[in-house]
Amino acid sequence: MSESYQTRECDVLVVGAGGAGLRAAIAAAEAGCSTLVVSKSLLGKAHTVMAEGGIAAGLANLDTPDSWEVHFADTMLGGQLINNWRMVDLYSREVIDRVYELERWGGLFDRTDDGLIMQRAFGAHSWKRLCHVGDRTGLELIRTLQDKMVHTAGTDVLMECTLTRLLTHGDRVCGAFGYLRNTGELIVIRAGAVVMASGGWGRMFRYTSNSWEGTGDGAAMAFEAGAELQDMEFVQFHPTGMIWPPGARGILVTEAVRGEGGILRNSEGERFMERYDPVKKDLSSRDVVARSIYKEVVAGRGSPHGGAFLDIASRRSAADIRKRLPSMCDQFEALAGVDISKEPMEVGPTIHYTMGGIRVDAETAASTVPGLYAAGEAAAGLHGANRLGGNSLGDILVFGRRAGEAAASSAKGLGARPAVSKKQLADAEAAVLLPLAHDLGEKAENSYVIHRALQEAMQDDAGIGRSEESLNRALTAIGELTERSKRMRVGGGRVLNPGWHTCRDVLSMLTVSEAIVRCAIARRESRGSQWRFDFPDKDAHLGRINLVARKRRGAMVVEERANEPMPDDVVTRLARSRFFDPATLPLHYAGKVPAQSPEAH
Ligand code: FAD
Repeated sequence: MSESYQTRECDVLVVGAGGAGLRAAIAAAEAGCSTLVVSKSLLGKAHTVMAEGGIAAGLANLDTPDSWEVHFADTMLGGQLINNWRMVDLYSREVIDRVYELERWGGLFDRTDDGLIMQRAFGAHSWKRLCHVGDRTGLELIRTLQDKMVHTAGTDVLMECTLTRLLTHGDRVCGAFGYLRNTGELIVIRAGAVVMASGGWGRMFRYTSNSWEGTGDGAAMAFEAGAELQDMEFVQFHPTGMIWPPGARGILVTEAVRGEGGILRNSEGERFMERYDPVKKDLSSRDVVARSIYKEVVAGRGSPHGGAFLDIASRRSAADIRKRLPSMCDQFEALAGVDISKEPMEVGPTIHYTMGGIRVDAETAASTVPGLYAAGEAAAGLHGANRLGGNSLGDILVFGRRAGEAAASSAKGLGARPAVSKKQLADAEAAVLLPLAHDLGEKAENSYVIHRALQEAMQDDAGIGRSEESLNRALTAIGELTERSKRMRVGGGRVLNPGWHTCRDVLSMLTVSEAIVRCAIARRESRGSQWRFDFPDKDAHLGRINLVARKRRGAMVVEERANEPMPDDVVTRLARSRFFDPATLPLHYAGKVPAQSPEAH
């Protein structure tokens, strides 16, 4: 065991300083709890800062027919009805208050001429709904929450600290173990409750819009502690990432470009989305647009580098484009030498968001493990099989707050802080330090090589289109890489050693990748972001269940969990979406929605 650990104590430990973590910390501290926020990066640099397009909320500032009920309907339909409807219900009601709260806390939104919060159109939202700050909404959200948090008594922040394991007492989570990235010092944090707000995971794919932090550490730690991971098969390909030059591949081209009127064309100049979705066209849901681009490329109508052309230049004035999409202008100018106010962008699908995550209770964000809560991209349930753009920034505000409040109440209900066994700490320490042991000589494996091999396997065999055969190939590769990962070793010591950090990341990514692939194999249907070449249709039984991956006797197993059907009065709300089509309702809801709703359009 180590000579010494740095130790910290708090009522509520929040893992992550993105929007979900910051909102949870504010709620927990306001409930009277000492709250520690831990982040792999610096405060203000979490992945949330990259968000561009906006926060979806049914304020109806521009389109008066909008409401929380229409937002509910769009979100359920976008998620192909396997979302946790209670979460969607809470979300679509409460996100309105959370947006106004941000405004009260100093968030500076773009405005209408009347001084209302400006809203823009986004894919598969019935009305103009995304509250935004140009195309830098995440930056404003983080800035506002951060400012509020540091002025809330009872909060503290620990930056550049990687947590590697949740600590437990009996069945209950009671803290976490990790190390400081700059010194390599080990740290033990004892807490009454833990909120996992550690974000998503895209880094196990070759092309992704995600930041370096997106390695799924939180999901992997929760899984190891006994939590269930739900909907892991649903990984969102955003249809428009940069595809050229190679160094920029994967970087997001915000949906706001299409929200502001941009259209997609193939190499023949055809606006092909008119064929694939004549109603929503370029603003169809992300799964549909991503697949459509893929199909155009396969049909030989792709752009020179294997994607499509996104044209805003012919749709808006140059001044308008510079005002509404400043980051996109800078991004294309700096990285590709393209002036998007004059010429089209070349774009293609990029891994963007993970609908799956830690299975939680809708009201409290409690996981299936006592003492552990989860919110934001690390949690599952709100988005079902496909997330609508703008619903994540709302998610992190609504459920970040709920998780913080519930964790605070749980921590306050505890008597003494639970003890942590010495064996647990010794095991956690041994696992973290193993890659630094210079004991294997030429048999040592390089963490970067394993990461690259995992990316190849996931991108090629568990990507936008999948089959039993390709997924089994991916599973075999993950198994082999997991074996090799046990021999990962790095040179150098603990101080600022990126190779060592990557070893941790790789272990998390392997666990999460296995969950993605095992769930994708078990879901023998196509639904939302899961596109199975060998099962192109929906399956009635699978439409009533969510899949969970959990640990049983040391191995990962996939099990079915029945999703709670919507009550009749809730089902009728679906007709409020402009995009509702009664013909697509699953049998168990058939006949419960009026064929033509007066409010629908
Ligand atoms: P994150 O912001 O990812 O934060 C995770 C935190 O956890 C970080 O602080 C990280 O350091 C910490 N962490 C992780 N692992 C560990 C560990 N082991 N130890 C300690 N700390 C750890 N959504 C929208 O709704 N609207 C948009 O316009 C939009 N635009 C986007 C644009 C881009 C380019 C991208 C990539 C995403 C966009 N999204 C958007 C999605 C949205 O930004 C994210 O889903 C959301 O910000 C996730 O927030 P979070 O708080 O859950 O996690």
